[in-house]
Amino acid sequence: MFSFVTKGPVTSSPPAAHLRKEQVAELFHEKLGIPYTTDIPTLTATARKVLREVFLTADIGFSGVNFGVAETGSVCVITNEGNGRMVTTVPPIHIALMGMERLVPNLDDLSLLLSLLPRSATGQKLTVYTQLLNKPLANQTRHLIILDNGRTRLRNSPLKESLYCIRCGACLNACPVFRELSGHAYIGKDKSIAPYPGPIGSVISPGLLGENFVQLAQASSLCGACKDACPVDIDLPKMLTRVRAGAATSNSYQYTVAARD
Ligand code: SF4
Repeated sequence: MFSFVTKGPVTSSPPAAHLRKEQVAELFHEKLGIPYTTDIPTLTATARKVLREVFLTADIGFSGVNFGVAETGSVCVITNEGNGRMVTTVPPIHIALMGMERLVPNLDDLSLLLSLLPRSATGQKLTVYTQLLNKPLANQTRHLIILDNGRTRLRNSPLKESLYCIRCGACLNACPVFRELSGHAYIGKDKSIAPYPGPIGSVISPGLLGENFVQLAQASSLCGACKDACPVDIDLPKMLTRVRAGAATSNSYQYTVAARD
């Protein structure tokens, strides 16, 4: 929805928080043909009605994955809106796309991360819709695609700590630079908006996508607020200085740092 009026999510959680109700009203009026209104119950009822029709008629539901559990083969998807539950259960085919770093050994490990993520993201004890998907429903097919897409290279680099990230967004909210600029200011040399903004985005965007986003690591005062906020204790100032020193793009860098550490 928000991609119609912006160029992408402004933060990992919640992605459309920057939109005012007037912008949503204009969007719904223009795209859905309803009379212009800023009445929030009317807007949410409209979104629910339109999305239900999409879910009920879709041939394939496509979702991301917050965590995968190796011990049980479960896929964990968490949302606060319920759309995740619809997209993973209503269409006859569900395709789940999971970054390979999202795999945890067992349900005890999952339980810890499910406790950390919402507390750090939105201050909730538990995300509203916390789904554990096991075998597909009757008459449903499920495919799980596990993505590398540069993660093995990142794991073998001095930036490997960044793969611990659970995308809670706490480092973004703590960062004085992000708070002033917001997510759409994190752009690459080609002027494209980085898929991951904020302190962690300034590490993994160049780490996964390369040279185009290396300049993002300069968007930090290295004050350390991001490290203090991170529930999985990623040393973000250290990661940012490593990106500045060429860790995201230089193969020889890792040997220099490994020797020094
Ligand atoms: S780096 Fe830490 S604080 Fe930032 S999004 Fe990832 S887990 Fe959350």
